[in-house]
Amino acid sequence: MAPLICTCCRHNDAFYFRAYSGECLCKKCFAQSIEAKVRTTITRCHMLQFDDHLAVAVSGGKDSLALLYILAKLHKFRPKTTLTAVTVDEGIKGYRDEALDIAVVNCKKLGIPHHIVSFKELYGFSLDEIIEQANQRGQTKLTACAYCGVLRRRAINAGARAVKADKVATAHTLDDEAQTVLMNILRGDIARLAKEKPVSDKVHPMFVQKIKPFCEILEKESALYAYIKNIAFQDTPCPYASQALRNDVRGMLNRMEEKHTGTKFTVFRAMEKLRPAIEETIHKDAFKVCVECGEPSALNLCKACELLQQLR
Ligand code: SF4
Ligand code: ZN
Repeated sequence: MAPLICTCCRHNDAFYFRAYSGECLCKKCFAQSIEAKVRTTITRCHMLQFDDHLAVAVSGGKDSLALLYILAKLHKFRPKTTLTAVTVDEGIKGYRDEALDIAVVNCKKLGIPHHIVSFKELYGFSLDEIIEQANQRGQTKLTACAYCGVLRRRAINAGARAVKADKVATAHTLDDEAQTVLMNILRGDIARLAKEKPVSDKVHPMFVQKIKPFCEILEKESALYAYIKNIAFQDTPCPYASQALRNDVRGMLNRMEEKHTGTKFTVFRAMEKLRPAIEETIHKDAFKVCVECGEPSALNLCKACELLQQLR
């Protein structure tokens, strides 16, 4: 059988069938389509001003490095925008150290300044130490990801603030966004359901606004982009990953997507439509500062300090 021809350029051999659109794409057209989608998302959601200093949260994995490459490419057309990569070192032995090296190499290759913040520096504990401490104290109710999620969000914000960024871009993909919607529903966390969006609200001057330029990119397409562009990335999973509720939701969504193409988009779009109505019904807490660390918090003691206090 003759190879399929790309439905976009009608010239090269196709290598990828995009089930949700019915397109067969060659490598070049596929990569261009991802870059165009990211550009469209940035424009549609008003993610960037022409002179923004943008921090990019880079973990060393495929998604964050693909995002860094695309933003570096867009940067050529937005010369007044400044880019800085920010990496959080959670302190996960044998995992994050390897990812860190990969992030450093990629930033050097792209000529992008790179800032690293570590849990150890910020909180006095690495994630490995936190888990060890929690186990010793019999505090096994929370998973490693529960600690990591809270502390990493804070660390990314601290890193972006340290480099004086106006905004920080994270590489949350469409898969992540759809998973987060379902997880918040399963937990009954309606406030968070409304809060997680492509461009975060400006709720406090100490919070750097978060943008998600990959929110309409499937995770497998972000991986494919990294592969086509020969981007070196870390592909070993985090040793704590299996503990996450997210894994179950991911599995369920992947099975649904296989049977009913477009499920992830549908979940994401449904949430986009529902959000304004939910926002009207929820009470938005005014932010104050945490009595312990001075970071903005809805409560007197922020979640990060609450977790750290339990360990001490
Ligand atoms: Fe942190 Fe969990 Fe992600 Fe590992 S899998 S980096 S512990 S959130
Ligand atoms: Zn083509």
